[in-house]
Amino acid sequence: MRRRKRHNTAAGIVTAMIMLSIAVIVSAVLLLVKNEKKSKAIAEADSYETYEHETRTEKILKNDGYSKENTDVYPEVKTKKNSETKTVKAENVKTILLDAGHGFGDPGTSSDFLGCSEKDVTIRMAKLLKAELESRGYVVDLTHDGETFPSEQEIIGMADERKLSYKAEKFETNRVFSAYERTIYANVLNAENKYSLFVSLHVNALEKGNASGFQLDYCCENAYSPASKVAAESIKNSLESNFPDTRMKYKEDTYDDAFIVTKYSEMPSLLLEMGYATDEGDAAKLNDAGWCKLFIKAVADGIEAGI
Ligand SMILES: [Zn+2]
Repeated sequence: MRRRKRHNTAAGIVTAMIMLSIAVIVSAVLLLVKNEKKSKAIAEADSYETYEHETRTEKILKNDGYSKENTDVYPEVKTKKNSETKTVKAENVKTILLDAGHGFGDPGTSSDFLGCSEKDVTIRMAKLLKAELESRGYVVDLTHDGETFPSEQEIIGMADERKLSYKAEKFETNRVFSAYERTIYANVLNAENKYSLFVSLHVNALEKGNASGFQLDYCCENAYSPASKVAAESIKNSLESNFPDTRMKYKEDTYDDAFIVTKYSEMPSLLLEMGYATDEGDAAKLNDAGWCKLFIKAVADGIEAGI
């Protein structure tokens, strides 16, 4: 009996030792796996920090404790970064879009005093203003050069491509590059928000009675009204100080009363009537190269002071 019991005790010790060994081995394996996971996580974190460590986006991600795995948050921050880049671009480069009113199948107004059509004056003045602003370091584009313009279908195609909104029924099919068409085209050109200001140049007319002088309009009821107002007031002030004897009609139009080019353009915008074709004095000035040079300089001064 004693012998047998001794034998049993020895077997128990051996079994216990085997089980202890198994436990030690399992623990060691578990620890190894855990360490492997940990070092993998550290490696991922390191590579992520290296990935974009110079950007503000990275700081936002780190400060807010976002991890690389949190894909729901990451694209949103990327979008934020893109819009920041856009703002910086707009602030650094002053880019202006000019529109010579009318043109092509639409001559605008005319008179014996003027001796030509409004479209001839607007393209000439737009080109002069473009050259003046460029000499001051601005980047200036025109909605058209007086020679060619995009067709209705081309404008619609470009607007669709850029996902811009427009009302198809407002497009005309008579190939005149209507005010609505050129406004949507202006928005196409401005798809990257590159313009600080959109200026449409015109010549006024009064069929009955007599009127002379400048007229400046902007829409005071759209998203760009505050910036439009600053630019409009600055140009108004410059014209008033440079031409104190010329009447200045300054109009802050409601959305319903506003010109198509000022209310539908998706950027700060204004419309400037440079004088009356039906006024003998104004028409003579618009045909005087020396006066036109002073006028363009005054408008450029106003733009420079206002944006
Ligand atoms: Zn006009």
